[in-house]
Amino acid sequence: MIPPRILVLGTGGTIAGAGSSATGAAYRPGGLALETLIAHLDALGLAAQLVPQDVARIGSQDIGMAEWRALHAACMGALADPAVDAVIITHGTDTAEETGFLLDLTLPTAKPVILVGAMRPADAVGTDGMRNFANAVKVASDAAAAGRGVMLVMGDAVLPARDARKAATSAIDAFRTFPRGPLARVTPSSLDWFGPPHRLGEPARYPFPAELPRVAILTAGAGMDAKPVEALLGIGARGIVLAGMGQGNAPASVLEALSRAAASGVPVVRASRVDEGLVDRNVEVDDDALGLVAARALGPAKARMLLMVLVASGITDADEVQAAFDRG
Ligand code: ASP
Repeated sequence: MIPPRILVLGTGGTIAGAGSSATGAAYRPGGLALETLIAHLDALGLAAQLVPQDVARIGSQDIGMAEWRALHAACMGALADPAVDAVIITHGTDTAEETGFLLDLTLPTAKPVILVGAMRPADAVGTDGMRNFANAVKVASDAAAAGRGVMLVMGDAVLPARDARKAATSAIDAFRTFPRGPLARVTPSSLDWFGPPHRLGEPARYPFPAELPRVAILTAGAGMDAKPVEALLGIGARGIVLAGMGQGNAPASVLEALSRAAASGVPVVRASRVDEGLVDRNVEVDDDALGLVAARALGPAKARMLLMVLVASGITDADEVQAAFDRG
C-alpha cells in the first residue's frame, strides 16, 4: 500500500515547545522547529509521508488573521491537490478551538483536516506530543476520516472541532466536547469511529473572510452596570457576545443596553459563562422583544468566531444570525 501523503502545517504551541529543563515548568511554545519535530516523528516509523510546511512558530494565544489566512490557503491548496491525502495542523491548545472552528466553517469536508496539540512541551519528561501526533497520523490516514468536519486529536480522542473546548489549564486530558462527544477513539495502532461520517460532501459553509470585524465578548458579573456595553460600542464593536450567567443572563440594565445595541445594527448573541449546556431563546430573557440571539450550544469563544464570520459575510439580521447559531 502506498503510504498516505500528509501536509503538516506547523504553527508552534506546546507540541513544539522547548524548555530549559525536562522537569522545569518554564518553556517557550513553538521553540522547536517543525523540521526537528518531524525528524523526531520519523524515528517513530509512521506509515505516512509527511510534508512539513511552517506557517508560524508562536504560542497560539498570539494567533490571528495572518496565520488563519495562511492556514486556510494551505488547506485549500491541499484539498485541490490530488497528491495530498490529508492535512495535520500542529497548534497550541489555548486557541485550537477557535482556529479549528474557523476552518470548520470555511473549508469543504472533502479531505481530513486535523489539529493536534500537546499539554507538555516536546522536551519535557512524559511529553504527550509524539503520541498525539502519531494518533493524528492514524486518523489522517483513514479513508473514513473525511466528511466529519475539522477534527482535533488530543490524547486518545478524536474530537469535532466545532464542539471541542479547552476545559483544564494544565491537565493532559484538557479538552471536553459539547453537545457531541468524541467522534472516535484512537491509538497509534487502532482507530474506532463511533459512527459514520455525518458531513460527507459538504461544501464550505461560509466564504473565508477578507478581514475579521471586531466582535467582543462581555462577561457578565453580579452587580455590574451597563457601562461596559457602552464602552464596547465606543470602540466600534460590530458585534457583541454576552458570556452571561446561567442560560445567558445578565442584569436588566445590561440587557437593555444590549437590546439598544442590537437595535442600532450591532448583533448581540447571548452565550453562557457556564462551562457547558444550551442557551435557548426566550427562557428567562425575552429575545424576541429585545432583538437578541441565543448561542445555543456554542460557548463564548466559538460564538465570537461564528459572529465574526457572519458579520464579515454581511449577515447581521437577528433572525439570520439565529438561524446560523441553530445549525449544528
Ligand atoms: N500557550 C500554549 C499555546 O496555546 C499552550 C499549549 O499549546 O498547550 O500555544
